[in-house]
Amino acid sequence: MRQSQLFTKTLKESPSDEQAKNAQLLIRAGYIHKEMAGAYMLLPLGLRVVDKIKDIVREEMDKIGGQEFITTSMQKKELWQSTGRWDDSVVDVWFKSKLKSGGEIGFAWSHEEPIANMMKNHIASYKDLPKFVYQFQNKLRNELRAKSGIMRGREFIMKDMYSFADTEQQHNDFYEASKVAYMNVFKRLGIGDDTYITYAAGGAFTEFSHEFQTLCEAGEDMIYLNKEKGVAINEEVLNDDVLKKAGVTKDELAKVSTAEVGNIFNFGRSKAKEVGLFYNNKNGEKEAVWMGSYGIGITRLVGVLVEKFADSKGIIWPESVAPYSIHLIGIGDAITYADKLYKDLSDSNIDVLYDDRDIRPGQKFADSDLIGIPLRVVVSPNTLEAGGVEVKKRNEDDSHIISTDKLLAMFSK
Ligand code: ATP
Ligand code: MG
Repeated sequence: MRQSQLFTKTLKESPSDEQAKNAQLLIRAGYIHKEMAGAYMLLPLGLRVVDKIKDIVREEMDKIGGQEFITTSMQKKELWQSTGRWDDSVVDVWFKSKLKSGGEIGFAWSHEEPIANMMKNHIASYKDLPKFVYQFQNKLRNELRAKSGIMRGREFIMKDMYSFADTEQQHNDFYEASKVAYMNVFKRLGIGDDTYITYAAGGAFTEFSHEFQTLCEAGEDMIYLNKEKGVAINEEVLNDDVLKKAGVTKDELAKVSTAEVGNIFNFGRSKAKEVGLFYNNKNGEKEAVWMGSYGIGITRLVGVLVEKFADSKGIIWPESVAPYSIHLIGIGDAITYADKLYKDLSDSNIDVLYDDRDIRPGQKFADSDLIGIPLRVVVSPNTLEAGGVEVKKRNEDDSHIISTDKLLAMFSK
């Protein structure tokens, strides 16, 4: 991508209506546009990051047997009434709308009900189980506060997966497999060491649900953590009972700020009973399906990565999700050479953002730091004289000169 053609521009100043560091940097660097509190547009750079995160999540979900599909954002009042979750006093984040033809619909804040209901058409016998389905979809939630930038949207992208199982064993096996898959995702995003599986409220069948909490100053959650023992407990469920279960005492735990990047939830058979999702087991008896739901906050993750890895100059993306692998900067009379290098890199299928703009080098460097692509490659008359191009990692201070052949070799797989 030639930066001269990119329709987004960087901003020198932070937008005055945005307090969160993640959104300030993402807006300044041209990744997102703030439409209103809690609602952001994903601009080309932002969309590339989101797509890369999705690709990683998709790979890990497919590995444990997930099948991707997509549902609708419009939801039936009657269905949610049947499970007692239509009322605003029960679910306080609903957006709802009246239909012109009469009646009312809700906008999807979650999808357990419609997906379990849909599965009635596809699950009749134990032979149809287990099944694991997932989607990447926009959730709409009328959140009271939307002050954490892209980490808490009124519209946001979630990966939500649902499991349908025959026996408790089958059900538990998948629940455990999902934990491993989730940790794989977070490792690949560079936050594996800082993400903890955390006892949390809201188990329907079990006493707890499990949250995936990432150490993050700007996060809205507080957990009690023992890193050595790998024990994490959300403050909302901290009591003697959970301490005993986790095998720790309260003094062994440190209170830390975290962001909830994922949440897995065990329904047992309760959700299927409510929705009427039954099947015939091996003995020919009618039973309710075992269900679980498994969420990952895709756009929240974008914010968490920015919060955790940025420095005073701008964003620093992990290589796995950076919008481009290389930020190529052409300077002065070396521009013809840079054009040729851009072509060679692109021909080798390397993702390059090429700053070919006719502006001061200082501005190019500042923008490059702000945008945060992991590797900066500068081509100037000086670097050519020194024998090649200057390469510098965004998260390191020192740079060095290498030949273009060596640069190409670095990326050839
Ligand atoms: P929170 O406690 O932060 O409000 P939640 O418990 O309501 O989250 P879930 O319903 O479990 O969240 O949703 C699954 C995942 O979606 C969460 O773990 C989080 O990563 C993400 N998420 C939830 N709400 C938002 C939001 N308003 N904006 C962005 N991501 C969100
Ligand atoms: Mg939660």
